[in-house]
Amino acid sequence: FLDRLLEAEVSARSERDVLVKTRMAHFPFVKTLDQFDFAFQPSVNEKQIRDLATMRFVAHGENLLLLGPPGVGKTHLAVALGMSAIMQGMSVQFLAVADLLEQIARDAKSDRLDQRLQLLGRPKLLIIDEMGYFPLDRRAGQFLFQLISRRYQKGSIILTSNKSFGDWGDIFADSVLATALLDRLLHASHTVNIRGQSYRLKEKLK
Ligand code: ADP
Ligand code: MG
Repeated sequence: FLDRLLEAEVSARSERDVLVKTRMAHFPFVKTLDQFDFAFQPSVNEKQIRDLATMRFVAHGENLLLLGPPGVGKTHLAVALGMSAIMQGMSVQFLAVADLLEQIARDAKSDRLDQRLQLLGRPKLLIIDEMGYFPLDRRAGQFLFQLISRRYQKGSIILTSNKSFGDWGDIFADSVLATALLDRLLHASHTVNIRGQSYRLKEKLK
């Protein structure tokens, strides 16, 4: 009886843990890998994604770059992998670049950039979504550089972008900074290049 009671307690606790961690992650939506139609996006290697979902790359402090045009499922895959991490008890934080820029501007005014840096250094997995839609000014570029340096080989980052690495100089006000940042980000990293049609457009056409 006690055995069964304890078992129920443990599973209730881990369920609660998943709920709490999912809420704290601030995903824009919650989707899983099983909801991803791999047949629709053949440039995505299902085996590679399932392998990434084991979270070995996070245990090793490696990064993951998801690249591709709008609507191909970058955010979906990032969130789904984030959910896999949470199921394994890891802490996850999702952050869109647009929101990060807002936070940085606000924090700079109240002299709290260091605290923000510390806060974003904490989660086991940090998801930075939509790099490339907004240009980063010098302050934002420096902040991101510090963030990536701080997490380097300690905390993993999943980063999504519509721009290939060669075009990252355009995002940053400072191309030297962009090079140094990419150097750290890409060392011990996995890259998934998604080429294909927008799933959003497919839904529209249907
Ligand atoms: P991106 O971040 O690359 O712009 P999203 O991940 O936001 O694209 O995908 C857009 C929408 O289409 C989301 O609702 C997502 O769940 C869905 N979607 C994209 N690709 C697939 C896919 N292969 N299978 C199922 N749903 C998909
Ligand atoms: Mg997206």
